Amino acid sequence: MSFESLGLTAALCRTVADKGYTTPTPIQAAAIPAVLAGRDLMAAAQTGTGKTAGFTLPMLQMLAANAPQGGRRAVRALVLTPTRELCLQVMDSIRTYGKQMPLKSTAIFGGVSINPQISSLRQGVDIIVATPGRLLDHLNQRTVDLSRVEILVLDEADRMLDMGFIRDIRKVLAVLPRKRQNLLFSATFSDEIRTLANGMLDNPASIEVAARNTAVETVQQLMHPVDKERKRELLSWLIGDGNWKQVLVFVRTKHGADRLAKQLAQDGLRADAIHGNKSQAARTRALSDFKNGKVRVLVATDVASRGLDIDMLPHVVNFELPTVAEDYVHRIGRTGRAGRDGIAVSLVCVDEQKLMKDIERLLKTRIPSEVVTGFEVDKSIRAEPLFKPRGPRPPRHQQGRPASRNRNEGRKRRA
Ligand code: AMP
Repeated sequence: MSFESLGLTAALCRTVADKGYTTPTPIQAAAIPAVLAGRDLMAAAQTGTGKTAGFTLPMLQMLAANAPQGGRRAVRALVLTPTRELCLQVMDSIRTYGKQMPLKSTAIFGGVSINPQISSLRQGVDIIVATPGRLLDHLNQRTVDLSRVEILVLDEADRMLDMGFIRDIRKVLAVLPRKRQNLLFSATFSDEIRTLANGMLDNPASIEVAARNTAVETVQQLMHPVDKERKRELLSWLIGDGNWKQVLVFVRTKHGADRLAKQLAQDGLRADAIHGNKSQAARTRALSDFKNGKVRVLVATDVASRGLDIDMLPHVVNFELPTVAEDYVHRIGRTGRAGRDGIAVSLVCVDEQKLMKDIERLLKTRIPSEVVTGFEVDKSIRAEPLFKPRGPRPPRHQQGRPASRNRNEGRKRRA
């Protein structure tokens, strides 16, 4: 199958070919014709499937084809993303694929000054890519007009709900024109997502490219049982012994990310941390240092890592397992992308054995376990709860999900 056969213009096909894509991914093959036909979309797709091009390409084509003659530019497409990183990545795709088109776009996200955003909005844009919190700030200050939006995209909708953005999303939906095209992308479909979709989508084309919650097949998975106190030592050893050049390491907390990056640096490894408490500039710098090889190990929390698009990432390490099994799938989706092989290694201490069982149950597979010589577990150590109960009850949407600490990241900082 070719991009031409999906109905894309020759100019867009050339841009895609320049990027080095020869065939559409399954999500692109399904989504592009549906979007070009003007249909709403409900797509189950994780990062790594090519979903960004799946909605960006037809969206650009529709906008260019229906561009109003003369008059001020109006915002005609709005893409909502959960994190600043994803926002910038989507923006990047729009600029790359749309470089030959007379369309203007801007990214709107928190953690940076609002003034440059106000001035770029004032100059007029056709496309906005935004995180919900900051977009709402603009709506409240009347610095953005969304009354002429024709296409709405919710990217990684499940993550936006997990991060507590549902109210913000509903407030944004309330100011959009009723008649519009809606594209909803989500890795998982919880009841909450289905409720949102039912209220928003009109007879959507339903697309599911990978079976729900199955790990990307090209990723080789492995776990090493190890005592908690020796995880850092084992990680440094694995990186050195395997001569791993680029490693993304997941931890559960922001504090843990900083601490581990510092310790790895003490072990002589070039390491940095990326999490929600870091300034946007620091996060962007850490990510680009990691991409260009200046930083060998990037330590990340789940929220900060969401949507990171790093080509050919060979190694992902779960230094600590996620407390929500679905997050494991998102994490290991950082490697083995677009058909390339990758290895996802989990360092599992006695406290995390139950979490590992939950993950295996979700994936319906057994992850091979390999004891590293010299790092055998001390059988006398008993399992302890990962989180000691403390403080008030979590808000309702987080009840029954012990991951509340990490998941609060986005809520506190209002991306
Ligand atoms: P995404 O799921 O949108 O985050 O895309 C994942 C990765 O796949 C990105 O690095 C894209 O550049 C790449 N990609 C997207 N479409 C294709 C394609 N048709 N062929 C090869 N790679 C692609």
